Amino acid sequence: MGDISMEYYNYVEKEGHEQVCFFYDRGSGLKAIVAIHDTTLGPALGGTRMWPYENEQDALRDVLRLSQGMTNKAAAAGLNLGGGKAVIIGDPKKDKSEALFRAFGKCVNSLGGRYITAEDVGTDVNDMEYVYMETPYVTGIHSDHGGSGDPSPFTAYGTLQGMRAAVEKQFGTDLKGRSVSVQGLGHVGMELARLLKREGAKVIATDIDAESCQRAKDEAGVDEIVKPEEIYDVAVDVFAPCALGAVVNDRTVETLKCKVIAGAANNQLEDSDRHCEVLEKRGILYTPDYVINAGGLINVYLEIKGYNVKQARRLCRGIYYNCMKIFKIAAEKEITSHHAAEHMVSRRMNSLAGLSTHFNTYGASKGRADIRAGR
Ligand code: NAD
Repeated sequence: MGDISMEYYNYVEKEGHEQVCFFYDRGSGLKAIVAIHDTTLGPALGGTRMWPYENEQDALRDVLRLSQGMTNKAAAAGLNLGGGKAVIIGDPKKDKSEALFRAFGKCVNSLGGRYITAEDVGTDVNDMEYVYMETPYVTGIHSDHGGSGDPSPFTAYGTLQGMRAAVEKQFGTDLKGRSVSVQGLGHVGMELARLLKREGAKVIATDIDAESCQRAKDEAGVDEIVKPEEIYDVAVDVFAPCALGAVVNDRTVETLKCKVIAGAANNQLEDSDRHCEVLEKRGILYTPDYVINAGGLINVYLEIKGYNVKQARRLCRGIYYNCMKIFKIAAEKEITSHHAAEHMVSRRMNSLAGLSTHFNTYGASKGRADIRAGR
């Protein structure tokens, strides 16, 4: 993609997005893009990423890719949500302000509920408070307003459930005594490491941040810390990517020394169609990322439905059954787990596309009345 011109329209058309909106606010300096990929199943929900993109093309490419992933994630998790995402072009360490996020809130509001936002990389609950001053179409806000707060612990909990399914499928056992390498000890990875230790697993972990590594040893009880570049060479039962995307790529796919991949990072396979086949041939069971990491989305979805922490944990436990279902489809159809997940997504979307589900309805929702009523 070069300039934002005809090439851009062709690109968006090819990717199948419903709507892409560019926002600019002179007063606050806001530059944002909201991509609504698909609202077949419900309003497009996806977080707002703030990142110092080098140019608009990079930001656009990111938001298109991420919003598409959200459609799959919501559909696979059985939620009545579509896929969307927003990016704010800026450095989260330097460029944040009340005005910026309130301006962004006004932009989200102008979409009338077709898009609901939340936090993502570079944004947090406090930023969403400002967004909430301007629009009800925001989730992951403080519990004082009926919100559910930081979704990361639920993402970690859901990832643990998916990992349990993959380990059971591959080894016929639970996680006790299994070795797991965790790449990235941030919001999700640290909590996952803690949960794994509680399950009796042996945990080897890494992060580029030395302080996080130390905390993982001291507070989460991680058994061993390795250098970031060494994580791909550690012989373990399970590799759990919880940092970056595209970590399964031409450089790593042939050398990984694990039997299961089950982690929270988005877009783990650089070239999903090709790399999932290589993993399959190597006997490595891949747990599709957007299925295993849906816990955070499930949690914010319940905010719309009426937040309840017990229900959030119960739905996150459903990720175990969802993964098992995918492994079963893969075995029956003799396809990879990645393709089985795609199959499950398209089957649900096609079967529900005929229902007259208006994008602003939430089923029998009794949740955040402000969202449903547009406040
Ligand atoms: P985070 O920013 O809190 O943590 C990421 C961690 O990875 C940081 O500690 C960072 O230092 C580390 N890291 C970066 N590069 C690294 C490298 N090369 N090697 C090792 N460590 C490295 O992010 P998070 O919220 O924990 O999310 C982690 C991943 O899970 C991301 O890919 C995110 O998109 C995905 N995810 C998160 C959620 C959620 O609820 N937070 C939901 C779904 C998916």
